Amino acid sequence: MYKTKAYSAASATSPLARTTIPRRDPTERDVQIDILFCGICHSDLHQVRDEWKRVMPTIYQCVPGHEIVGRVTKVGPGVKKFKVGDLAAVGCMVDSDRTCPECREGMEQFCANLTLTYNFPDRHETAPVTYGGYSDSVVVDENFVLRVPPKLDLAGTAPLLCAGITTYSPMRHWGVSKGKKVGIVGLGGLGHMGVKFSHAMGAHTVVFTTSPSKVADARRLGADEVVVSRNADEMKKHAGSFDFILDAVSADHDIDAYLELLTRDGNLTLVGAPEKPLGVSAFKLIFGRRSLSGSAIGGIAETQEMLDFCGKHNITSDVEVIPIQKVNEAYERLLRSDVKYRFCIDMASLKAEAS
Ligand SMILES: [Zn+2]
Ligand SMILES: [Zn+2]
Repeated sequence: MYKTKAYSAASATSPLARTTIPRRDPTERDVQIDILFCGICHSDLHQVRDEWKRVMPTIYQCVPGHEIVGRVTKVGPGVKKFKVGDLAAVGCMVDSDRTCPECREGMEQFCANLTLTYNFPDRHETAPVTYGGYSDSVVVDENFVLRVPPKLDLAGTAPLLCAGITTYSPMRHWGVSKGKKVGIVGLGGLGHMGVKFSHAMGAHTVVFTTSPSKVADARRLGADEVVVSRNADEMKKHAGSFDFILDAVSADHDIDAYLELLTRDGNLTLVGAPEKPLGVSAFKLIFGRRSLSGSAIGGIAETQEMLDFCGKHNITSDVEVIPIQKVNEAYERLLRSDVKYRFCIDMASLKAEAS
């Protein structure tokens, strides 16, 4: 075991502050990664403030962070995929049982015995729970470590590990490709990745936004059309025409207004999670055999596929890079959606702090 610097929350009401955490020494198949960048996901904030108490109560101290990019500093003797000096990335999961039907099909994200990157019981018992990427280094089994394509901007690559795969996976599942008409609802951390992927996959991409101020930016990100969703006439023009809509809004909103934009057999997938149940009219689904579904990140193989796709198309997230000392301020700004489109922590700022 060794000690490493980190930022953690001591309770639901404390700000993130400097701490020291234990990490295991790499075992047979482990990769030790020096963390260079870690994205800030809205889940980090929910978990730190114990806002998911009913589903995933937070165990303190809590070290969040599941959008990790870094460089390999040590490997176990059985490691085959990585060597010292390689770039490497870690997303939302660090382990699973690997034997259940979900794991065998490469969908570890649905494994009942999965280990999330932070706030999950630590299989290795180095600490009561796993600690995430707001830290100097991390040790992860090579099967849950991703390869980073060369030449991508590393700060912009970090958010691909959660925001990227969360939007990429349902698009692949529902067949987004050339000739399809795709809608993206909500232009935030998730939505802006959805626009980039849809555009790169060759689909006719339409962004829905409530604020006319985002029209120009949506076009810059790759939208072919932008609809201001408050304008009923504009919405009506698109009725019955979408093959797929990705809904990335986590606030309460009128989902029926989007369901009726789907064509026959069209699908709307939710990746945002509003607190209150969404009202859905059965008729909007019955007419046109439309479907409504959800999606959660992606499996390890698909996450690698997504990173390789990003390497090929030079896709990264639009980030505002911050030092870790500004993380609490960033959380407040995140609550006001005051970021284009993802915060990413430059971990050099943590290394610079005295140990
Ligand atoms: Zn996340
Ligand atoms: Zn499993």
